[in-house]
Amino acid sequence: MRPKIVAGNWKMNGNQAFVRDYMASFKECWSDKNLDQLSDLSVIIVPPAILMVSVSEYSKALGVNGFFELAGQNVSEYSSGAYTGEVSASMLKDSACQWSLVGHSERRALFGDKLSVIVEKIKQLLSEGLRPILCLGETLEERELGKAESCVRSQLESVLDAFSVSDLSKLVLAYEPVWAIGTGKTASPEEAQAMHRFIRSVVASKSADLAEAMIILYGGSVNSGNAESLFRQNDIDGALVGGASLKPEEFTEICAQCCLGQIL
Ligand code: PEP
Repeated sequence: MRPKIVAGNWKMNGNQAFVRDYMASFKECWSDKNLDQLSDLSVIIVPPAILMVSVSEYSKALGVNGFFELAGQNVSEYSSGAYTGEVSASMLKDSACQWSLVGHSERRALFGDKLSVIVEKIKQLLSEGLRPILCLGETLEERELGKAESCVRSQLESVLDAFSVSDLSKLVLAYEPVWAIGTGKTASPEEAQAMHRFIRSVVASKSADLAEAMIILYGGSVNSGNAESLFRQNDIDGALVGGASLKPEEFTEICAQCCLGQIL
């Protein structure tokens, strides 16, 4: 069975006071739910870069730093130098990150992260030993035109073609239909499962073993009310959670359901 991951993307939310309160209630919710018993689950928190060190420090002070890993929301395609406003892979690593999102649909749509840029960002992460979480997903228009699979295929193939199987084994994929992000609309468990199955089949064209081992998360308005039915699907290995990850009670409940899904 593949390991499970639940990642919480805070997006551009939070400040020092938020981090302090969040970590305190995260600790409480975590112990209430006995989440440290759940060995097969990795929890990842994805704060804004400027809050990364505060998350580390507050969580260390409370003794909960071992319960989750950290990811960047984005990374520069360059390694260092005159790139004002950018955050490099080595800076993420230096801030205790082990992961970074790449190709989130908000980055693709609002900040011009095109396929070639995404490939460069993945190269930067791999060169620093960080693991990329590559986001894939179609818009509503693409889905309505019957182009959901071809859209996801082209996003995925541009990365599969650029890396060796050994490099690709460091990736985690996150299927996030754009029409479900921040909208309250979730793909049905069957719709999500069908796309995850499809994604696995595209990866299998590169390597069957890679496809079998590839962790594929679902993202798009996941909350404690819909998570369990998504986690029951064979090809859904966890979630990338946006809005609901800002509430520790909700986020830890989703983590608990992810493990429950394996047992039921
Ligand atoms: C996301 O930002 O990756 C996301 C899935 O957001 P939300 O859960 O709010 O839809």
